[in-house]
Amino acid sequence: MITYKSYIESPLNEETPPVDDPTKGALNIIEWAYQSYGDSLVYACSFGAESMVLIDLIAKVKKDAALVFLDTDLHFQETYDLIEEVQKRYPLLKIEMKKPSITVDEQREQYGAALWKRNPDQCCYIRKVKPLEEALSGATAWISGLRRSQSPTRANTRFINKDDRFQSIKICPLIHWSWEDVWDYIQLNALPYNKLHDQSYPSIGCIPCTAKVLNNDDERAGRWADFQKTECGLHASSPSSTN
Ligand code: SF4
Repeated sequence: MITYKSYIESPLNEETPPVDDPTKGALNIIEWAYQSYGDSLVYACSFGAESMVLIDLIAKVKKDAALVFLDTDLHFQETYDLIEEVQKRYPLLKIEMKKPSITVDEQREQYGAALWKRNPDQCCYIRKVKPLEEALSGATAWISGLRRSQSPTRANTRFINKDDRFQSIKICPLIHWSWEDVWDYIQLNALPYNKLHDQSYPSIGCIPCTAKVLNNDDERAGRWADFQKTECGLHASSPSSTN
């Protein structure tokens, strides 16, 4: 097993991608990750646009890779439809629909109506962070689709990140990809994608916390649009965990 320490000291974790690699280092990192971690590597997949790229690249390396989707029970029907479509296109992928320990109704009974409006951090903790913690309990490392250009909080993300939050290694193959790179790859390879992307939703999460983005260059402006919140808590420590 290659440790985090040995990895960050290796040339693979360099800041700039190889110039002759059209995937900007992503495929190289994915190959390395599965060679190093094998079945103890999990991809936490949101089924956003970046996920379509990552799924396609991962399937080139490991057709039966393990994916976990944090099924909050609050996603758009279009997202569930996409998951079905992906499973048909990549039949060997093992997609786990990871649910929170309490249903939406139980959450309302215990915490009051629409917790996401009053305390979205607590809601995300119950419905996303805790389930991911459980899903990663048997994993040594996990893959995420973070890109540096998504937001200032992600600008320092490296290919491999020490993840103190989940006591794990977080592998981010797409750090050098732009939004345009993602869509070029999707179109070039005729990949499926969430139909809501064609309706002004660049970033798609739970229904109560996702809004359309109109006349705004910020890809994530539609997430928790009424709050200062910009992250669900899964990646809160990513910039500082890289070194
Ligand atoms: Fe709750 Fe919104 Fe977080 Fe989904 S994104 S878990 S609805 S606060």
